[in-house]
Amino acid sequence: MDYKENFEIKSLTSFKIGGTIARIYFPENVEEFIQAIEKEPDAFVAGNLSNVLVSSDGYDGAVILTKKMDNIDFDGNKVIAGAGVRGTKLSKLALENDLSGLEFMIAFPGSVGGEVFMNAGAHGQMIADVLKSAKVYCPQTGIITLSNSDMEFSYRTSICQRKPYSVLEAEFELTETSQDKIQEKMNENLSFRQNKQPSLTLPNCGSTFRNPEGDSAGRLLDEAGVKGLKIGGAHVWENHANFIINDGNATSLDILELMYEMYSRVKEKFNVELKPEVRYLGGKNEKEAELCKILYQK
Ligand SMILES: Cc1cc2nc3c(=O)[nH]c(=O)nc-3n(C[C@H](O)[C@H](O)[C@H](O)COP(=O)(O)OP(=O)(O)OC[C@H]3O[C@@H](n4cnc5c(N)ncnc54)[C@H](O)[C@@H]3O)c2cc1C
Repeated sequence: MDYKENFEIKSLTSFKIGGTIARIYFPENVEEFIQAIEKEPDAFVAGNLSNVLVSSDGYDGAVILTKKMDNIDFDGNKVIAGAGVRGTKLSKLALENDLSGLEFMIAFPGSVGGEVFMNAGAHGQMIADVLKSAKVYCPQTGIITLSNSDMEFSYRTSICQRKPYSVLEAEFELTETSQDKIQEKMNENLSFRQNKQPSLTLPNCGSTFRNPEGDSAGRLLDEAGVKGLKIGGAHVWENHANFIINDGNATSLDILELMYEMYSRVKEKFNVELKPEVRYLGGKNEKEAELCKILYQK
């Protein structure tokens, strides 16, 4: 299996931030994944690192990246995709197969595993709408198959965030539709993204904070006046207050300090404590640990 020590991860993250990872595994299939996780039961499992802030000081533990678990198998209106399949690739293949349901994944930087873990969604569609079942690895029982209802999906969450489950592959049930209709929906989604979200040429990690119930984090942040705020090499995007951009040389500490400032301004103005959507991987930097205690409340 592809395995590396002291691996520089920065270029693989959508934030273009992150230091040295002590041990990293790149399994190509389920068997290799099991080998890696049995060897490293505490490994951090990730996909395309489009929603993880990796500390610039690195991480002393192990990471398993599913990027190479990219098998895709269409059967009628169903498709089984490996955890590492890029959402955008899957949505294009669904289009070619006249299948609707994955249009929201177009231009989406996540992998299937990360999207199932997060119940990712956009433009009124989400994983929970189309997932039939997921094959997951559980340390106690090995590989199990969970149905849609077993996944306990709700806004940006699934059972995988509450139990030590790693997503190995997912089966989606789609709807036969003409390519014209699917393409039209994708075009709408693409134009929305171009106007409302930074492209990956501006290194970012998607939405910084989750929407609080019944409200929008972007609205609260905007009214709290954070657009354009800058700390070190990072700033809050001028077009949408819930995105942080790495200007090129930002460190993870810059990002966390900016997140803290955004969180504090919203708390002061609205008495709402925003919760980060972006995950953090680190632990070696004391200042970062202090900020994470407040932001992640653990
Ligand atoms: C420009 C941009 C736009 C975005 N737009 C959206 C959007 O519209 N909607 C949306 O929901 N999100 C969006 N995101 C956020 C992100 O792409 C999603 O959250 C995506 O689901 C993350 O997938 P990933 O493979 O990159 O996960 P990673 O960043 O690698 O990991 C994210 C979390 O998932 C866990 N994880 C990853 N793979 C697995 C697995 N196989 N098993 C168990 N846990 C796993 C990790 O441990 C981590 O906690 C956007 C991000 C960017 C940069």
